[in-house]
Amino acid sequence: MLKVHSRCDLSCDHCYIYQHADQTWRGRPTRMPPATVQAAARRIAEHAREHGLPVVHVVLHGGEPLLLGAAGLREVLAELRSAITPWARLDLRMQTNGVLLDEELCRLFVEYDLRVGVSFDGDRAANDRHRVFAHGGSSHDHVRRALALLRRPEHRTSYAGILCTVDVRNDPDRVYEALLAESPPRVDLLLPHATWDQPPERPGPDPTPYADWLGRLHRRWVDDGRPVSIRMFEALRQGGGGTEAFGLAPADVLVIEADGSWEQVDSLKTAYHGAAGTGFDVFDHSVDEVARHPGVAVRQDGVDGLCLTCRSCPVVDRCGGGLYAHRWRTGSGFDNPSVYCADLLRLIDTVDAHPPPTPAPSPATLPVDEVLDDLATGHGSASTLALLAATQLSITRALLAACRDRSGATAAWDLLVHLDQAAPEAVRAVLAHPFVRPALVHRLDSSALPGLGAAVDPLPALAIAAAVRAGVPAALHVPVRAETITLPTLGSLVLPGLGESAEVTVRPGGFQVRGGSVEQTVLLDPLAPPSTGWLPTRDVSVPGGLLLLEDGDPYRDCYGQPVASRLEVPAAWALGRTLADAWRVVHRDVPAHGAALDGGLRAVVPLAPDPARPLRSATARHAFGAVAVTPHPDPETMAVLLVHEWQHAKLGAVLDLYDLIEPGQGIRIRVPWRPDPRPPEGVLQGVYAHLGVTQVWQSRAAIDQPDASAHAAHFLAWTRDGVDALLASRSLTAAGERFVGQLRHALEETRVRSR
Ligand code: SF4
Ligand code: SF4
Repeated sequence: MLKVHSRCDLSCDHCYIYQHADQTWRGRPTRMPPATVQAAARRIAEHAREHGLPVVHVVLHGGEPLLLGAAGLREVLAELRSAITPWARLDLRMQTNGVLLDEELCRLFVEYDLRVGVSFDGDRAANDRHRVFAHGGSSHDHVRRALALLRRPEHRTSYAGILCTVDVRNDPDRVYEALLAESPPRVDLLLPHATWDQPPERPGPDPTPYADWLGRLHRRWVDDGRPVSIRMFEALRQGGGGTEAFGLAPADVLVIEADGSWEQVDSLKTAYHGAAGTGFDVFDHSVDEVARHPGVAVRQDGVDGLCLTCRSCPVVDRCGGGLYAHRWRTGSGFDNPSVYCADLLRLIDTVDAHPPPTPAPSPATLPVDEVLDDLATGHGSASTLALLAATQLSITRALLAACRDRSGATAAWDLLVHLDQAAPEAVRAVLAHPFVRPALVHRLDSSALPGLGAAVDPLPALAIAAAVRAGVPAALHVPVRAETITLPTLGSLVLPGLGESAEVTVRPGGFQVRGGSVEQTVLLDPLAPPSTGWLPTRDVSVPGGLLLLEDGDPYRDCYGQPVASRLEVPAAWALGRTLADAWRVVHRDVPAHGAALDGGLRAVVPLAPDPARPLRSATARHAFGAVAVTPHPDPETMAVLLVHEWQHAKLGAVLDLYDLIEPGQGIRIRVPWRPDPRPPEGVLQGVYAHLGVTQVWQSRAAIDQPDASAHAAHFLAWTRDGVDALLASRSLTAAGERFVGQLRHALEETRVRSR
């Protein structure tokens, strides 16, 4: 924590720097001199280099850091960046009262990727109870203006959150609503600094007013579905959670004062004059030397560094004795429980009594056997399909985070994070699009999906697509591929002259694109005149909902077979009608497979026509929710293709979760449907697809469709031979043995029915 300025433009009466026991600020320079900034930066860099730290967190603090002005801050940021980034990633933060925040400063924050936390105590009455100017005037409007600036899409990446100091005289509901109204990415609730010598205000007879006040806020937060991260509540549930106020994690904060002194955590200033001092400074002492100071070392000891009462407390792993400063009592020093001990105990009870709703089943909570046995019936139930779709979405989210880490670009990520809280359905709809995962995989490893061309950052297009769906104003630079910007689930804009990147601004009813020599507004209202170059996605109504006819997304080209370019309207209409009819045929023939299509198939990609092979279909492991088919006109044939490929897609999703094949054996197995010996996974895919197809033909044979019995017998024999070969190959894991064994059982049932 770097104290770049030691004075403040507000005069808050709860301020621990100016109003509590420590008064060392009076002897410090007003602002940190450049030579001190340089020495501090070198000390931090030295420590990062010697310990091989991957990342260093530096918080610019005060007093009020914005009193440095944009030019002064730029000098500090440049010094930190040039000294530290050769050795470690620099995570820059700032804590400010926001009064002086303006657009120029916001641009500087974005340029340096600096995240800003703003101190704000809630509604006007709550905020102005303490947070006022020296003349007593309100700071509320100033701070709200600052928060509005940070919320703007172009600055949003720099909005870290709100720090709110609790006062139990405020109305917790109004405070909660005021905080949420500012759409912060995170809220930090701070108990007012107090010690056993200077206990906290406890108006009225209630012995635990802080627990009651926070408990009420916690209840609202849980009932609302936890719409924002509130670190205090998360920490008390899990223990620690990245805050020094709770838990047993070692303290990892050191303060560099404006005169270059090394100090312990700032909050100690509330205990007694000079409490945070170490006697060290950045000119003569390294971080390692400061870390050996007894006051710092004792806070590395976990439970052993606590008083006897805390050590025997049943919730010590979560409370951790509370904030170090709050333990102070003249005579026994810090060897006490927190002065908030009774409140903390009660608050932890409250948090435990109102847990968040039980999450949807996940692979970790649903027994493997149950999932595999269900899918081994040949189709799978609605709940298993929902589980597969949910886990595929988790994988996409993990890839998204990996792409963000890789690119370092944060504007699109932060917009997605904001939308994920403000409009989660819009984000979910975009991320569930089958070709988002191929785009992310291609970005992370351009050799993984050959033929997709140059990899571009997919995050901006995803964030804009979600913002358009949510109707949230936003603006981002979006990479252009082959004169095209594709917004997944919405469509593609093809405009020559767009350049390599275009600025896309989401506006009511559509969006505007500016790139190269081109400016174009796209209106999404189907009744509006068509926008030049805009090729919207097209849906087909099927029994399971809407099926996307995906012939525009560039990442659909992941099937290892040529895909069709955008279909003309009559061809698209004809294919849509065939698909809708085929879907109904599946429901007619094998309702369980129809329900499985309803449960997850969301898009069909037309493959390029090939007269030599008119009947082709494909599935891609990374594109769950889609299958590719040649636009065959016969719904009965198309129905078989859909069932066959959807079996592959489901099994691919299962293989993302569970190992069914022992890895690295190099086994090849002969199967009746291919001339070349196949690896075990290929055989497993084959038998699972053929089981579904067998069930379709069995059903048709039962209503005496011509040739159905012969087809049924043919696929049944293939499937049975494949299953037997797999079981004999000894290539399956225990879970795989069970799954294939259950498939064999399903086959027997099919055979019995066919007799
Ligand atoms: S804004 Fe912060 S530093 Fe300034 S007086 Fe208020 S609490 Fe103290
Ligand atoms: S402060 Fe109180 S609640 Fe917290 S660990 Fe110590 S005894 Fe337990």
